[in-house]
Amino acid sequence: MAVDIEFDLRVEGDEPPDAFLDSRERQLMLESTRRSIGSGLRRKFESVVCEEHAEAPRFTISGVYDNAIEEMDIQYHVDTCCQGFLLRVMRILNQRA
Ligand SMILES: [Zn+2]
Repeated sequence: MAVDIEFDLRVEGDEPPDAFLDSRERQLMLESTRRSIGSGLRRKFESVVCEEHAEAPRFTISGVYDNAIEEMDIQYHVDTCCQGFLLRVMRILNQRA
């Protein structure tokens, strides 16, 4: 079953005059973030479904690159059919790749 992953990655804030990354590089960084998180999740959750409801988890990945501090803040949001499966998904998510 394909893992359902949605991304919401964006850049915020004004670019400082001495910015470390230019706008093209920021787009590339967002793209590579998307790829690496996506492939990591697909690898971990390829065959993971709820034992009770046979449903796969759904992920929403929000990421904001803050121009002012030049840092990326990533948040994982997980939707599952039930609480028990959510706990299992969180355990798998927290395991090292
Ligand atoms: Zn379930």
